Amino acid sequence: MDLKDSPDEARFRAEARAWLAAHRPEPAARSAEEQVALGRRWQRALYDGGWAGLDWPREYGGRGATVIESLIWNEEYARAWAPDMTQLAVGLHLTGPTLIACGADWQKQRFLEPILKGDEIWCQGFSEPGAGSDLAALRTRGEIQGDEIVVTGQKIWTSFARYADWCILVVRTDASGSKHHGLTFLLVDMQTPGIRIRPLREMTGHAWFNEVFFDEARIPQANVVGEIDHGWAVVMTTLDVERGSSAPHAKLEVEVARLVALARRTPRGRGSALDDPGIRDRLAAFASEVRILRVTAYRNASRVQETGQPGPEGSTLKLSWSELNQRVKDLALEILGPAGLVPEGDPLAADDGFWAHELLWARAGTIYAGTSEVQRNILARRVLGLPRGG
Ligand SMILES: Cc1cc2nc3c(=O)[nH]c(=O)nc-3n(C[C@H](O)[C@H](O)[C@H](O)COP(=O)(O)OP(=O)(O)OC[C@H]3O[C@@H](n4cnc5c(N)ncnc54)[C@H](O)[C@@H]3O)c2cc1C
Repeated sequence: MDLKDSPDEARFRAEARAWLAAHRPEPAARSAEEQVALGRRWQRALYDGGWAGLDWPREYGGRGATVIESLIWNEEYARAWAPDMTQLAVGLHLTGPTLIACGADWQKQRFLEPILKGDEIWCQGFSEPGAGSDLAALRTRGEIQGDEIVVTGQKIWTSFARYADWCILVVRTDASGSKHHGLTFLLVDMQTPGIRIRPLREMTGHAWFNEVFFDEARIPQANVVGEIDHGWAVVMTTLDVERGSSAPHAKLEVEVARLVALARRTPRGRGSALDDPGIRDRLAAFASEVRILRVTAYRNASRVQETGQPGPEGSTLKLSWSELNQRVKDLALEILGPAGLVPEGDPLAADDGFWAHELLWARAGTIYAGTSEVQRNILARRVLGLPRGG
């Protein structure tokens, strides 16, 4: 592993940096509707500029970038403070790569381009009440009737379902065998009769989450990805992509720099919060930890580049990033004091609500894409070789 850019990578970085400097739109709007609209426009700009589907193969409209180039792009993207694209992430980072790996030809032809252009938004209908970490326990029923699958049941925590055109949905088509057998992976048009969506408000004040209820929604069998009853293999492909493709140090690096600036301009006694030795210590520790994250991200990327598989570094990265992220946001609010609790308060005092929002949002990081406990279990078994817990 070499942490310095090769000449080709340096050229790629310079090109990415220049393009982002010339095209980056203003930072994201706050309302959900505005964020979705901005996400669609920005995705189209990325597509037109040749930056959409960076790591997708060229034959599917992507850029065919290497894993290291994708990581470089993520670093430059964070440094440019370009818009957060969570609202399009399911399509770009889960559905697209899953279809490329497991989809039928017609599915690739129909769905990949609208994802790349930002024309169609996707949501992920995996979790259910009683089936989160233990996803294979899911019970939403899919009954095969002729050339359709009739879906009845409930999903929960379905981010962006209200704005989504399509959903990757996992249902149980056979309950007679082991829980990993009998699952089927479906592509579901969210306009299908029998689908009802109820928003769930999060502590940030947004309602990105939803409950999605299916009452005999009829889905064509042609929309099955892989084979009926053998959806678990497809689910694993999706989750591997979710866990293997990240550069979380990039945004955190920028945020720690913002935090230093915040400490410098926040009055404390006769000086600023940056004069407080306790705060300086924690900021210095954060800066070192971000460096360690960066090295881990490159190690992960090198491994994916060599073997095609994320190793246990993926879990190390997710675990350490999500917990460090919370500590960084905690310190920001400690520095701001009561002013930080006013989400839309005095922009100078409260940093325009940025840190308060981030503090609350950071709680989610240790839950989605595998909770911290699940990541620790993976590391315990796969790295330390410990036996399964009771
Ligand atoms: C911001 C956000 C967005 C999300 N978006 C989506 C989405 O779009 N689509 C979707 O399908 N899901 C989504 N989720 C749901 C997410 O995948 C689940 O919350 C996650 O898998 C955990 O499942 P759970 O909430 O049911 O908790 P549980 O699995 O019930 O876990 C409860 C607690 O028990 C612990 N625990 C569970 N199993 C073990 C174990 N074996 N060993 C030790 N501890 C354990 C967990 O770590 C946790 O602390 C989202 C979640 C968040 C936070």
